[in-house]
Amino acid sequence: MKIIAVAQNYLAHSKEMNSPLGSEERPPVLFIKPESALLKDGKPFFYPDFSNNIHYETEIVVKICRLGKNIAKRFAHRYYEECTLGIDFTARDLQAELKKIGMPWEISKSFDNSAAIGAFVSKDSLLAERNSLDFSLTINATKVQEGNSSDMIHSIDDIIEYASRFFTLKIGDLIFTGTPVGVGPVKIGDRLEGYLNDRKLLDFYVR
Ligand code: MG
Repeated sequence: MKIIAVAQNYLAHSKEMNSPLGSEERPPVLFIKPESALLKDGKPFFYPDFSNNIHYETEIVVKICRLGKNIAKRFAHRYYEECTLGIDFTARDLQAELKKIGMPWEISKSFDNSAAIGAFVSKDSLLAERNSLDFSLTINATKVQEGNSSDMIHSIDDIIEYASRFFTLKIGDLIFTGTPVGVGPVKIGDRLEGYLNDRKLLDFYVR
């Protein structure tokens, strides 16, 4: 399986990163994380030795449930049935160095355990509660980030249409749909808890 992630998909986050990429006029900016990036089942995130500034990015994650290529937007909703909350861990210091020299920032985004995911829940049950998905992250019981899917620049269906032009989507692939404003650092000992429509789906420690 693979993980497709979207950068700069919320305007306020794009501004906090001083990035011009978060715009409806531009296509989504995609990057890939390998299967070795997955962190699940509440296992701890071990702070890597190559960074001194690991940031959390809280994101809605969808799981692809059927094989598809060149998926039209109007059919995109058929390609995912379950969602969860994930953390797109980012080595912000490495990323900044790589951006400065105009190089791909893969290693700062796609390292082992950089894609934490929670328990999956059905999309239909979430949308039965509300028209759009609310989500938030607490660290040590203090809310640090919150967002709503209606603020995405590119919707989930837009992302599926665009990504499937380049990458065949396979069953079990995950899409990280971008983070809202409010990213920040984690430190060893932190407890991260993530909520999607007030359901706690994510709960793990940084070690
Ligand atoms: Mg992200």
